[in-house]
Amino acid sequence: MRSTLPGPVGVALQPGSRLQYLAGIGPHRAEAFARLGLTTLEQLVRHYPRTWLDARRFVRIGELKPHELVTVVGRVRSSAARRTRAGRTDFVALVEDESGSLNCYFFGQPFLARTLKPGTQVVVSGELDPLEHRMLNPLFEVMEGEVESLLHTGRLVPVHALTKGITARGMRSAVRLALDAVAGRLDDPLPPDIVAGPGGAAGSGFLPLAEALRQIHFPDDDGALERARRRLAFEELFLLQTVLALRRRALGEAGRGLKTAGEGRLAAQARAALPYTLTADQQRAIEEIVADMRGETPMHRMLLGDVGSGKTVVAFLSALHAIEHGLQVAFMAPTEILARQHGATLARFAAPVGAEVEVLTGATPAAERRRIAARLDQGEPVLMVGTHALLEEKVRMPRLGLAIVDEQHRFGVRQRATLARKGVIPDVLVMTATPIPRTLMLACYGDLQISTLRARPAGRGRLVTRVAGEEKFPQVVEFVARELTAGRQAFVVVPLIEEGGRLEARAVEAEYQRLAAQPLLRRFKLALLHGRLRPEEKQRVMQAFAAGEVHVLVTTTVVEVGVDVPNATVMVVENADRFGLTQLHQLRGRVGRGGGRSVCVLVPSPGMSALGAQRLELMTQTDDGFAIAEADLRLRGPGELWGTRQSGLPRLKIADLARDGALLDRADVAARALVSADPHLLAPPHAVLKQTLLAGFKEPLELALAG
Ligand code: ADP
Ligand code: MG
Repeated sequence: MRSTLPGPVGVALQPGSRLQYLAGIGPHRAEAFARLGLTTLEQLVRHYPRTWLDARRFVRIGELKPHELVTVVGRVRSSAARRTRAGRTDFVALVEDESGSLNCYFFGQPFLARTLKPGTQVVVSGELDPLEHRMLNPLFEVMEGEVESLLHTGRLVPVHALTKGITARGMRSAVRLALDAVAGRLDDPLPPDIVAGPGGAAGSGFLPLAEALRQIHFPDDDGALERARRRLAFEELFLLQTVLALRRRALGEAGRGLKTAGEGRLAAQARAALPYTLTADQQRAIEEIVADMRGETPMHRMLLGDVGSGKTVVAFLSALHAIEHGLQVAFMAPTEILARQHGATLARFAAPVGAEVEVLTGATPAAERRRIAARLDQGEPVLMVGTHALLEEKVRMPRLGLAIVDEQHRFGVRQRATLARKGVIPDVLVMTATPIPRTLMLACYGDLQISTLRARPAGRGRLVTRVAGEEKFPQVVEFVARELTAGRQAFVVVPLIEEGGRLEARAVEAEYQRLAAQPLLRRFKLALLHGRLRPEEKQRVMQAFAAGEVHVLVTTTVVEVGVDVPNATVMVVENADRFGLTQLHQLRGRVGRGGGRSVCVLVPSPGMSALGAQRLELMTQTDDGFAIAEADLRLRGPGELWGTRQSGLPRLKIADLARDGALLDRADVAARALVSADPHLLAPPHAVLKQTLLAGFKEPLELALAG
């Protein structure tokens, strides 16, 4: 049957054949398919269902019970189109078997008269509506052959994403035809030994591609569906991990054989001058980083640690190794405020050992900028702190040995590449406080090495989180006033609607006015901070808050990361359910930095959903950032964890990072092994894989696979 299907010029259809050559699809419907990104048969068979309806329970019409998805087999006794008062033409068919009869009612589909003629044997799946004793818009299918060959009823029925001009039935029929025509001819990107499984042992491998595709669309049973899903999810994750492994490899090969770490004399001196001793995690992280810096290939490492885990000092001591070696260091922060704050902190750290720190941001005056540029140009070993301004072409750092990037997800891959072009390829250390679930970590940052700070420095205060509805506003104000009277400070945070926009400013101003009008707060100084303020203005407000001259800072998420004011012990977050949990977690990390008790009050927005309530409740129960991130992943799925665009999360068609963790691990191990055995994918069994990767991940891979 396969080879007799008509192709473009009477030849058999190929995976790459266009959809319009499939029976029943002309150029016009092909356009509708194209809107779903489907132009070839191969793409169509890769258009996996979104879900499956279980319509496998066959009953007799006389046994129908309401609200159960079941299937009946019968004959159309009569059928008729019916004008409604609304002017629509509906269609009704009376279906009967030997036990009774059933009304099937279809909204606005008079053309069904052509299919559901009296006397036709049909299979109907749906739920009985008890009031009218009928099925509304049931799934149906004219019975032509065996029950086993049903597509639309009486089975696990696939539900595909559709678009205007394509019905569910049309999609299923087209997929069936495409599967019959090309499933057996598709080249499998998975190498044969991986499909076979370790040692080819029975049960350890995966379904062959053709079988997986047939079963994912039209599964024989639950077991077959799960095996198909597993196989296709593994394939997807394996491709992803292979890309990451190749990238990691390419970065390694681009090594310039420059070691960037000195003996550690400076770092040891600076360490001795610290007012505390490093935690074991901090020591280990520094050792890992310095070992990388001593190596021949450029470092590409992430320093992962919850808010307050002490990443800054780790980065600083690592930086001293490069400085001692006569190299320059770029320390990049996501915002103006943070750059200045880091600059001040690092200058304090650096003073005892005589290391030089400079700060460069968009707000740095021209003369100052020229002075700094001249120093850098001459290759002086400076610890350069700044914002995106450091990335500008004009800023040359000919002796750049180490780039430290704070908060990875605000810097894109592109910026990282820009840094790499500034001279020799520097070591790169990315710091993030976003507690990333392990599975996401592997899928997003599988091309980075990881150092983790898990234990927090001792001597930090307790942080209590509470949810308080709008009706508790007076008590919240009272509580804030009490803390302020005791000499403490407070943050009040409103969600960022549109960064730097007028709405942002207005939301902050409204909250500011509301609080300023409270008699209990009249004695205190309030200030506001938002993205529309000029950098100098922001700077002034932050300094006043840090100095304790401002008692309450009303702000958007400008304070999200890094800002360190240990005397702030209260944070009130308005419309807290609009934030991501990891973001909330980072926000509340702004309080509880000193000793003593701190409180974070989460105020839900008026129409908060049940899911929202559940998420806020979670925040009151734990302050383990990793646990929160894992829970948020389960509750909302990976796409929502951060803005997808920012996070660099891969778009997955069938794998589910919230539940396929074990599969991801397996894919990662297989990908690493394959890439280390065949770094340029030159072996014949890897040819399809290579072709598939180049087609799907062109930009990141061209370099890695060249040669
Ligand atoms: P992060 O950047 O990871 O959020 P920071 O580097 O800002 O954390 O450190 C948070 C606070 O903890 C700072 O005030 C810092 O001085 C302090 N700190 C860092 N390491 C230690 C340590 N080992 N012992 C005590 N305090 C520490
Ligand atoms: Mg920090």
